[in-house]
Amino acid sequence: MEELIVLGSGTGIPSLRRASPGIMITSGSTQLLIDSGPGILRKMLEVGITYQDPDLLLYTHLHPDHTADLVPILFACKYGDFPREKDLLCVGGPGFKFFFEELEKLYAPWIKPPSYPLTVKEVHKEPLLYRDIQIFSKPVAHISGSVGYRIEFKNGKSIAISGDMDYCQNMIDLGIEVDLLVLECSFPDERKVEGHLTPSLAGRIAFESRCKKLLLTHLYPVCDQFDIVHQCRQTYEGEIVLGEDLLKIRI
Ligand SMILES: [Zn+2]
Ligand SMILES: [Zn+2]
Repeated sequence: MEELIVLGSGTGIPSLRRASPGIMITSGSTQLLIDSGPGILRKMLEVGITYQDPDLLLYTHLHPDHTADLVPILFACKYGDFPREKDLLCVGGPGFKFFFEELEKLYAPWIKPPSYPLTVKEVHKEPLLYRDIQIFSKPVAHISGSVGYRIEFKNGKSIAISGDMDYCQNMIDLGIEVDLLVLECSFPDERKVEGHLTPSLAGRIAFESRCKKLLLTHLYPVCDQFDIVHQCRQTYEGEIVLGEDLLKIRI
């Protein structure tokens, strides 16, 4: 059984209700952290996960609300009393390696791992196989290098995650008949912003992908003044879950 935890259901705008983006997926003994916005290390602690635990860090794009805690994670891994020992794989879209090398220039030696193997990769057209998990990716409509992911587990279950994006066919393709589709839902229908989804657009992608369940996250504070699920219901009849911090979903 796979478990997904929404560590942060918010954005780059500070909110007491919604932390910046971060999603933890546990599959057997493997833990994947998808995006690590500011404060995610501390949100992880609230569900008993430390900087030692994730095996794989997956990044959807390089905006600070999705990447800010990468450096603090690597810095914590060097903590003398409890240094990290197990392998760490960091993966992102096109441009991620350059971004990482620039961080190393800025922060070395504070983030270079002396005690554990670290690998940095960019996704390609071919799926990435990590242990028994297959990870597919495609570019999505947000900023240069933005990708969405489809993660397939050994037992046949699957989860797709958008990162930030506007309506695009690639995300529908990634989400085809997944058990759980996680879509950003930045603004209510009344406040559409280019490069981001609204509830009815997210519902349209969910409908077109025939996903079994839809989770909406990356909610700007204005969303909490609207009935987001009702707006999404206009275009999607399946199960809709509104993201909240520390929400757990089992698939
Ligand atoms: Zn964002
Ligand atoms: Zn973004």
